[in-house]
Amino acid sequence: MAWKAVSRALTTNECKKYKHISTRDGCPVCGREKETSFHALVSCEHVRMIWAQMRTVWRLPSQEVLHDTGKEWLLNVLANCDDHMRDCTIMLIWRIWSLRSDLTHGKEAPPVTAMSDYLQSYMNSLNLCCRFSIEEILKGKMPMVREETVEVPNPRTPLHWPRPPTDRAALSVDGAFMQEDGSAVVGMILRRHDGSVIFAAYRCIFNCNDALEAELHAIMQGMALALQHCSLPIVVQSDSSMALAAMNGDSLSRSADGHLVAEIGLHMEAREFVPSKIKREQNRVAHRVALYSRT
Ligand SMILES: [Zn+2]
Repeated sequence: MAWKAVSRALTTNECKKYKHISTRDGCPVCGREKETSFHALVSCEHVRMIWAQMRTVWRLPSQEVLHDTGKEWLLNVLANCDDHMRDCTIMLIWRIWSLRSDLTHGKEAPPVTAMSDYLQSYMNSLNLCCRFSIEEILKGKMPMVREETVEVPNPRTPLHWPRPPTDRAALSVDGAFMQEDGSAVVGMILRRHDGSVIFAAYRCIFNCNDALEAELHAIMQGMALALQHCSLPIVVQSDSSMALAAMNGDSLSRSADGHLVAEIGLHMEAREFVPSKIKREQNRVAHRVALYSRT
C-alpha cells in the first residue's frame, strides 16, 4: 500500500488522468479538489475526520507534519516516524483507501468509531501474530490487551453549530459538487434555537456546472422549503461566502447562475433572511445530509 502511494501507482483520479484512463482528476468523494494520493489519504474532508479520530487512540504523525511535499510525501512522513508509528500510519492509509473504494462504489461509510475499533483490533491481531505462533493464539496463550500504552494528546474540541437567537430559526445548507460527472448534491436543515429540527432535506442535481452553483442551489431550495415550514425570520448559514453574497448584492446576477440568484432574491422579499457565514466544521450536519443522498 505504502509503496503504491509513493510510486504513483495508487489509482487516484489524478493517476487515471495521467494514464489517459479518465478525463477528470477531481476527488470522487468531496469533488472539491484534484484527487492526488495526498488528497485521498490525508486532506480530503472525510479523511481528516478519520485521522482526527485515530489520533485519539494511536500515536500518529500530527496534522502539522503532514505536508504535500510532492510524490514522495509519504516517504517523508514515514521517515520521521518510529517503527510503531510507521505501522499505524500505513495501516490507517490502507484502511482509508479501501474506504474510498467503498464510497465510490456506492457503499455507505461505517461510523468513524466503528472504523477505529476495527483498525485497533486488526493491529492487535497483527501484533499477536508477530509474537506468538498460531497454535499459541488458538490455545489462548496470549495477553488480552496490548502491553504498550499509547500516550494520546488531547484532541482540539471541534467548533459547534452556532445557534440562532431565540426568535429566529437557522437554515444550514451545503452543496457538494462532483466534477467527475457534473452532478451535485445539496443538503438543507432548518433548526430552532434549541437545535430541534423543523426539516432536513436533500436534493440531487444531475447537471451542475461548479461548486458555487451547488451552494446556490442549496440556499435557494432551502429558502423555498423554509418559507413553507416555518414562520420565523431565518438565519441562512453556509460555509460559502461567495454563495451567501448572492443574498446581499447583485454581484452574481449577471453570472451563469443568474437564474438562481433571481430566485433567491424573490424569496428574500417573502421573509427576513439573514446570511451568516459559518466554518465548514460548523456545517457538518448539512454536509452529511447532502452526502446522504449519495448513499
Ligand atoms: Zn476529496
